Amino acid sequence: MSEVVNRIRQNLRGIEQQIQTACDRSQRNAADVQLITVTKYAEWNWVEALLELGYCHLGESRPQQLEERAELVSKEIQWHLIGQLQRNKIRKVLPVTKLIHSIDSLKLLDAVDRIAGEEQLRPNLLLQVNVSGEETKQGFSRNDLLDHWSEFDQFSHTNIVGLMTMAPHVDDPELARPTFRDLRLLQDELNQRSQTVKLSELSMGMSHDFGIAIEEGATLIRLGSSLFEGISK
Ligand SMILES: *Cc1c(COP(=O)(O)O)cnc(C)c1O
Repeated sequence: MSEVVNRIRQNLRGIEQQIQTACDRSQRNAADVQLITVTKYAEWNWVEALLELGYCHLGESRPQQLEERAELVSKEIQWHLIGQLQRNKIRKVLPVTKLIHSIDSLKLLDAVDRIAGEEQLRPNLLLQVNVSGEETKQGFSRNDLLDHWSEFDQFSHTNIVGLMTMAPHVDDPELARPTFRDLRLLQDELNQRSQTVKLSELSMGMSHDFGIAIEEGATLIRLGSSLFEGISK
């Protein structure tokens, strides 16, 4: 077995333990937390190593790279788009993507829904929320969603299945907890208000803070750098 595969396997073993520990602390079942291995900075042979190790939920942040890589492999891969989606990329990305985490405006949602209708697809989507209100971050504000929530019922070619957020980058991951908690509270609030949309997924937590995110209810965690520690390009 190659050096790279070995190293990634070791890293993943540590990560799986941390997932289990966070689940134990919050009395959750580890089967309810899906690890998405983020390959945006990964060399192709690292991606192959992940597949060899049986990880098949892969996350890319650039639509272009996702689309190119989706063509390279025939294996069953569930591709997750976690980065910004430009409207001119929608048509190519929809057929190869299992879940789009980064729907960040009504305009984009509207375009995705229309194209999904034309292509006779029914994509699963998460709404990206800028919980912390940082100016540099994409996404809906809490109030955008609460004030306009009835408008989200009208999209008939897409499934809105949950919410996604990124916590501010802070040294102490504990400081990310309020962001994750607020996303979960928002999910509850929106679910109480909606007749048709049912939000069941929370995509939150990255290499630095996923333990806290799991404690606060993450169902999807997105890890990149921690998978590939110790490997040089
Ligand atoms: C890159 C990226 C990740 C993974 O971040 P790491 O800190 O490398 O684990 C997760 N989510 C999004 C949206 C990203 O762009």
